[in-house]
Amino acid sequence: MKTVIKGYKYRIYPTDEQKELINKTFGCSRFVHNYFLAMKIELYKTEQKSLSYSKCSSLLTELKKEKEWLKEVDKFALQNSLKDLNTAYQNFFREHKKGNTNQGFPKFKSKKNNYKSYRTNFTNNNIEIDFEKGQIKLPKLKWIKCKTHRKFTGKILSVTISQVPSGKYYVSLNVECEHEELPKANNSIGLDLGISDLLITSNGQTFENNKLTYKYEKKLAKLQRQLSKKQKGSKNFNKQRIKIAKLHEKITNIRVDNLHKISSQIVKENQFIFSEDLNIKGMIKNPKLAKSIQDVSWYELIRQLQYKSKWNNRVYHKVDRFYASSQICNNCNYKNEKIKNLSIRKWTCPECGTYHNRDINASINILNQGLKDLELAV
Ligand SMILES: [Zn+2]
Repeated sequence: MKTVIKGYKYRIYPTDEQKELINKTFGCSRFVHNYFLAMKIELYKTEQKSLSYSKCSSLLTELKKEKEWLKEVDKFALQNSLKDLNTAYQNFFREHKKGNTNQGFPKFKSKKNNYKSYRTNFTNNNIEIDFEKGQIKLPKLKWIKCKTHRKFTGKILSVTISQVPSGKYYVSLNVECEHEELPKANNSIGLDLGISDLLITSNGQTFENNKLTYKYEKKLAKLQRQLSKKQKGSKNFNKQRIKIAKLHEKITNIRVDNLHKISSQIVKENQFIFSEDLNIKGMIKNPKLAKSIQDVSWYELIRQLQYKSKWNNRVYHKVDRFYASSQICNNCNYKNEKIKNLSIRKWTCPECGTYHNRDINASINILNQGLKDLELAV
């Protein structure tokens, strides 16, 4: 047994009164974020100084005396808003120093953003969940009706309350649980994150990403075309927007479920799991690909593989500096420069005559390199 932190997400059904308070908390959290972001920027401009979290925190206490309405909402929500701003700030400067320009500067939050959330913390039984009655108790809100489809036993650490673009409300709980590890597995596997398929393994297994959601994506495109003909801000426009948001949610759910199935299977069957480093993969540009979608799936899959490996005592290792994984023959190590061309799916090694499927060959190379990295190669 091992203590791990697991996430549980449930839909909640707040009353009108509760909705009002939740929306107010979203607003206050956003206010705190924007207020201190502006202050940080100003202070840096005028005095080249930074503002620490503890300084912000004591300023927030002062601010609450001045703006009484901030006291009406969950105090943890405001503190966490400040903490998250601070983290975003630190991440930006840390990555910037390293020369990584992907990490954006923290942004001001807009009222118009259709995804809203705040996070609260557990203390003195301020949060409780009742699986029998299907309800959850949250700070300031008291009991809210909740669809508790998955039970857990453990200690709740924090809860994020969110409203998604279709208008539905959710809670995401971080729970400290006891986890029973999977028995040790005997296999090792290399994973090639594919362009046309989501994933190809060194065993030759292919996992798809798009087929499951293809019909919904076509429907989505149709709904979006219809939306473009409606007058922005009108009643019908808004109705259509919600329809689109609901379909988006459905597609995302199917996709994430699929990724869970894949990552669970891989972790169950293998003791050593190897993949490429995504920063390298990201350099490949393919205009034909709905790249953002594929990227999101890759990152989510890696995230799941990482934590599931950790929970079950697996070794998940990223192979880096592996630009040429598809060009090298896994049998004789001959480097075939022609394979740079992404349209070549199958090739025969001119040196040893082995016939290759491009992606399977790449994943075998990843497996071999991973085993070498960990000095497990025989
Ligand atoms: Zn060869």
